[in-house]
Amino acid sequence: MQKRPKAASSYTTGQKAFMTDIKQLWNRIIDVVQTDIPAYRFDVWIKTLEPVCIREGRLVLIAPTATSKAVVAQNYIPMLKGAAAELHPAVQEVDVLAPDELETYMNAAVPEKEPAKEKEQPLKERFNTPNMFDSRYTFDSFVVGKSNQFLYAAAKAVADDPGAKHNPLFIYGGTGLGKTHILHAIGNHIRVTRSELKVLYITSENFINEFTASLTEKNTKEFRKRYRYLDVLMIDDIQFIANKTGLQEEIFHTFNDLYNEHKQIIISSDKPPKDISPLEERLRSRFEWGLLADVQQPDLITRMAILQKKAYTKKFNVREDVLELIAGKDDSNIREMEGMLEKVVFYASLEQKPLSRELAAEVLKDYIKETTEKITADAIIDAVCRNYPNVTRADIVGKKKTKEIAEARQMCIYFICEILSMPLTAIGQLFGGRDHTTIMHSRDKISAQVKNNPEIKKMVADMRAMIYKK
Ligand code: ADP
Ligand code: MG
Repeated sequence: MQKRPKAASSYTTGQKAFMTDIKQLWNRIIDVVQTDIPAYRFDVWIKTLEPVCIREGRLVLIAPTATSKAVVAQNYIPMLKGAAAELHPAVQEVDVLAPDELETYMNAAVPEKEPAKEKEQPLKERFNTPNMFDSRYTFDSFVVGKSNQFLYAAAKAVADDPGAKHNPLFIYGGTGLGKTHILHAIGNHIRVTRSELKVLYITSENFINEFTASLTEKNTKEFRKRYRYLDVLMIDDIQFIANKTGLQEEIFHTFNDLYNEHKQIIISSDKPPKDISPLEERLRSRFEWGLLADVQQPDLITRMAILQKKAYTKKFNVREDVLELIAGKDDSNIREMEGMLEKVVFYASLEQKPLSRELAAEVLKDYIKETTEKITADAIIDAVCRNYPNVTRADIVGKKKTKEIAEARQMCIYFICEILSMPLTAIGQLFGGRDHTTIMHSRDKISAQVKNNPEIKKMVADMRAMIYKK
């Protein structure tokens, strides 16, 4: 953990000093949290908050819209509270309000204070604490696809019967692909099904800090002993122990102690053991003793499913084509996709505009290069024809009405309406002088099928990817 600035001094003196101080305090809080979250989230959710006052130990903030209030309340309160409490001992809670809530809030009775939290507990009592695992990260909220089904199955097996098989479970894969999510899911699952087990989740960063502290206290024996009490030890992002010889030695002994007692060890890393360097050979081989489970970049379908689930959980009402725009950027990881989703929802709510694909493309133009200007009706017809091998361009614009030709034609009309924003009558012209009501009918028919028929939905997503990628 990085060093945090010391607490600001005098605070609750007279109103004037207070007002300037709260700005200062807020600026320092955001300095601290800025390092903990991705820049696009910080800009969208945190920087836009305004501090109002500190009232009875509660730091009151105003969010620019109800949506951003909801997002902050759901995701960032503990982080803000942590930073605020370190900088100002009087702050015990953080309240975030939507713009129209301030008056009611200020007129309401002072909320009851939460009882002061206990200071740092010794590690031994820290297993399994209710807030060790993020309640949002469960097996249920984890979307399974080709890229992660192996990891999911392995994690589920370990969570169902810790210590019995796959020991250690070594999870690796690129950043933002769900490793931490899966570790918390295992933790949440065990806490519910086997509450007697002592489970510890620790980031290797904290692990390193505790180890360094034990060195200065000349207490490395104590350090090692602490971990022996565990039934399940999870170390997240272990790659950071490369280079740290003393720590590797401790982990080696801890590993042996737990392993010999058939206690479960779960490790995550952004690379497989063979690529962590330098890493002691004996530790590397132990990491490889159990099961190596990798997680890969998800395919388009999984990315869509994840985005849909996120939008649903966050109560964002987002059109399918907007989700497709975000999911279509296939070099972004899931964390980045979530960030983009939050960003477009935020802008739409800020500007009080419906969230269309165009608005989303505009907001995300620095991340996603849409090639809309290069797309033509011809290109769309070509892409669609490639999905209907028996149908030619002449069929599409002609009069034939076989089932296949009719469907391909409707697909073309659907995409042209959606992507090219041409007048319906002009589209009718393209298709051999068809009436604008026919065009509307075709468009609506496919829209409805996309909603109701998973097969059509997948076809449409594939064709859209083709249209945009060419
Ligand atoms: P990592 O630890 O691999 O860097 P995280 O576990 O922090 O990645 O995941 C980043 C974000 O993506 C989290 O919000 C997580 O919930 C989400 N996420 C990743 N994979 C999935 C999935 N398969 N289903 C649902 N959400 C996922
Ligand atoms: Mg992680």
